[in-house]
Amino acid sequence: MEKNIGISFNNLLTEVIGKDLCNRCGGCVSFCSANGINALEIGEDGYPKYSDQEKCLQGGICYLICPQTKRLEEELKQKFDAKFPIGNWIDVFSARSTDIDVKKVATDGGVVTSLLSYLIESNKIDGAIVSKRIGACGNGPTIATSKEELLETAGSYYSEALHLDKLGSEYKSCFPVIKVIRESAKKNMKKLALVGTPCQIKAIRKMQLMNIVPSDMVIFTIGLFCLQCFTLEDLAKKEFAKLHNICIDDIVKVNIKDKLILNMKSGICIHVPLDVIEKIARPACIACDDFANDYADISVGGIGSDEGFTTVLIRNSLGREIYSEALYKGYIENKHDKCMHEKVESNYLIDIIKEFAIRKKARAQARLNSLIK
Ligand SMILES: Cc1cc2nc3c(=O)[nH]c(=O)nc-3n(C[C@H](O)[C@H](O)[C@H](O)COP(=O)(O)OP(=O)(O)OC[C@H]3O[C@@H](n4cnc5c(N)ncnc54)[C@H](O)[C@@H]3O)c2cc1C
Ligand code: SF4
Ligand code: SF4
Repeated sequence: MEKNIGISFNNLLTEVIGKDLCNRCGGCVSFCSANGINALEIGEDGYPKYSDQEKCLQGGICYLICPQTKRLEEELKQKFDAKFPIGNWIDVFSARSTDIDVKKVATDGGVVTSLLSYLIESNKIDGAIVSKRIGACGNGPTIATSKEELLETAGSYYSEALHLDKLGSEYKSCFPVIKVIRESAKKNMKKLALVGTPCQIKAIRKMQLMNIVPSDMVIFTIGLFCLQCFTLEDLAKKEFAKLHNICIDDIVKVNIKDKLILNMKSGICIHVPLDVIEKIARPACIACDDFANDYADISVGGIGSDEGFTTVLIRNSLGREIYSEALYKGYIENKHDKCMHEKVESNYLIDIIKEFAIRKKARAQARLNSLIK
């Protein structure tokens, strides 16, 4: 295991946050608060900072688990057999939810929401860490414990969600004994699923690798493909919006596939090429090299699939077991039953996921090279 002598949050301040590489996943703060150290907090700008430097134990765990440091990468790759360029996978599908209510609110085929509904309704998990909309442009983490709550959180929010910070505070809120009894009687949460971007999943995997609470509560991960995130405020920036004829108030749905797709109130659809939205990506996203969410149990995205379907990459036996059960119980359906069709489509789906993964890795390398110069 990695040695972390002499490393502390100060290293994250200089090497990650100071270089604009922090993706605001909240992992460092989550670790620090869940373990009762409480030296860190999320500042008003959304970035982690010292709340009380005196309390810092200088253990350097926050540095190891940060998805933007290279620490523990080799161990993760080995553990998950993550091969270039999209990690390990055992199956791929185009699929969708069978539930009309889910399909109405989902980003793509609603597979994520229906898989989580299945897990909750079959008591395999106590809740799912997902994102909910806050105000017109923002989003934040929440724990959904029923299909109704999941429906409120379906869809995709392209600004980051600080999911891991939620995990930390949920765990901590269960920590004092009396509260634990009360909270567990009320919520009885021991097993959670996590939906997240690659940076969020990577932080939790690093914590699991080191047996750090609260990562032990996460028993299943659904990873979203991710080229970048951005805020709707960035989209609305005058020059950008004018150049691409976007009126932010008229957007009813945002989706990223092989381009940014904006559905407008008028019914028209604006397609913005990816190299254009790269201009408003956070610098941390430009330096991030994981597109396919290599360390998730199941990875999902829209690319490669028809409108109304989700592309699903099954990565391991746990992913396969849960996906097959949800399929068998009728929560989701595959686009094709016939083996031949499936085979042709599988090759196509894998090729397109690889294309985007390679593109993202090249972009990250170029950005990191530019930081060294
Ligand atoms: C920031 C971001 C970038 C993405 N980039 C791509 C891309 O480049 N190419 C591609 O093919 N697909 C991308 N996706 C994935 C895609 O938008 C869909 O989320 C995915 O296809 C699942 O669709 P669904 O209908 O099955 O999910 P749904 O049933 O609609 O469920 C989506 C789930 O994701 C959760 N969620 C939404 N936003 C976030 C967030 N910011 N962080 C964590 N969880 C969140 C929701 O709460 C919900 O549980 C991206 C998603 C996000 C959030
Ligand atoms: S762990 Fe996440 S929030 Fe903390 S410094 Fe790293 S990227 Fe930023
Ligand atoms: S590109 Fe996606 S996974 Fe990478 S830092 Fe940005 S939000 Fe996280």
